[in-house]
Amino acid sequence: MSAQKKVAFYTLGCKLNFSETSTIARNFQNEGFDRVEFDEKADIYVINTCSVTDNADKRFKSIVKSALKQNENAFLIAIGCYAQLKPEELAAVDGVDMVLGATEKFKVTDYINDLSKNEMGEIHSCEIEEADFYVGSYSIGDRTRAFLKVQDGCDYKCTYCTIPLARGISRSDELENVLKNAKEISEKGIKEIVLTGVNIGDYGKGEFGNKKHEHTFFELVKALDTIEGIHRLRISSIEPNLLTNETIEFVAQSNSFVPHFHIPLQSGSDTLLKLMKRRYLRETYNNRVAAIKKAMPNACIGVDVIIGFPGETDELFLETYNYLNELDISYLHVFTYSERPNTEAFEMDGVVSKKVRTKRSKMLRGLSVKKRRSFYESQLGNQLTVLFESENKEGFIHGFTENYVKVKTPWNPELVNTLHQIKLTEIDEDGIVRFDWVKVPTFV
Ligand code: SF4
Repeated sequence: MSAQKKVAFYTLGCKLNFSETSTIARNFQNEGFDRVEFDEKADIYVINTCSVTDNADKRFKSIVKSALKQNENAFLIAIGCYAQLKPEELAAVDGVDMVLGATEKFKVTDYINDLSKNEMGEIHSCEIEEADFYVGSYSIGDRTRAFLKVQDGCDYKCTYCTIPLARGISRSDELENVLKNAKEISEKGIKEIVLTGVNIGDYGKGEFGNKKHEHTFFELVKALDTIEGIHRLRISSIEPNLLTNETIEFVAQSNSFVPHFHIPLQSGSDTLLKLMKRRYLRETYNNRVAAIKKAMPNACIGVDVIIGFPGETDELFLETYNYLNELDISYLHVFTYSERPNTEAFEMDGVVSKKVRTKRSKMLRGLSVKKRRSFYESQLGNQLTVLFESENKEGFIHGFTENYVKVKTPWNPELVNTLHQIKLTEIDEDGIVRFDWVKVPTFV
């Protein structure tokens, strides 16, 4: 295909999707395509979809519309989790020319010989069992930090989740490859790497295409810690039952791993955790939080929680609310339960009305604001390191400390992607933290 062709990408969903889009985009560029922004005119638009996003179908249709507004003759390709779960549904959307499943998404450039529009989207999908091989990826250039994929798929059977159906069995990158990718990223001047996957605590499983664990997540963490030139390593999200004491203690003494843990809880009620088929109960979660705070009192702990799961009575919801209110955690990501076909929860009794789901979600988001504020307050006066991002937001540049405190200072392009020692002073009206420089940069 000639080099003049322009390609643009749109990614929905998680850090893993962003790392995969970035790698696929590099494949296109290696084949001589020009990458343009999604709001620019392109010959090809690739949309990396998500099956967890609420209203995923509505979102997808509006993204398709915005691409066709740029170029009504453009060739539109859908990839990602939604494309694997419902290829026919996406292929039937007006303007979609091709839908690629989990085994084909990394081979997009092999499928675009003829860019003429198709009446009905052409589907190249697979049974998810065929997606049992691993393809590495990492994001670069789109943000200050790079998302490094280390693991894919999941063998757990949480009753509300479709991810195993969209991404297949748990499998991992070979340790040597992860280390090679991490070096490549740091050599490109990226200061922070975020380890990402579906169930990264299960790292090592299927590393050489078999069901065995060749390495453990702890061994991965130790190996990455030895790489020269990486300033920061952040663990994106890890299951509580897979976060070991040795990993926590290692992070506590590490110079590169940051004291920030994002640990899915999903419910503060053991009754619901059992219905969700989660692999732990509250006691394990308490224990993880306590172990982290003992080893790193200033650590940031983020929590995923689902509200409105079938069977969540007012009492059980309050159990979750009170549990989280007591817990020494820093912020919440609140997800409203939404029915997913082919999941066990889809058939469960005790459906919670949309109105009640909305009310409960609002309450937990309010609690998250309170938790984040008291965590930020606990950090005032502390001397920390900030990594500045790249955007000028209303005359300010933002950045995050190692323990995920968001700070800001007047915009200065020379601060982009730089690390500085700061002392946190106060929380401004937007809930963002202001600071004093420990050593004022010469250009400030
Ligand atoms: S651990 Fe559970 S919620 Fe997470 S991807 Fe696996 S099945 Fe889904």
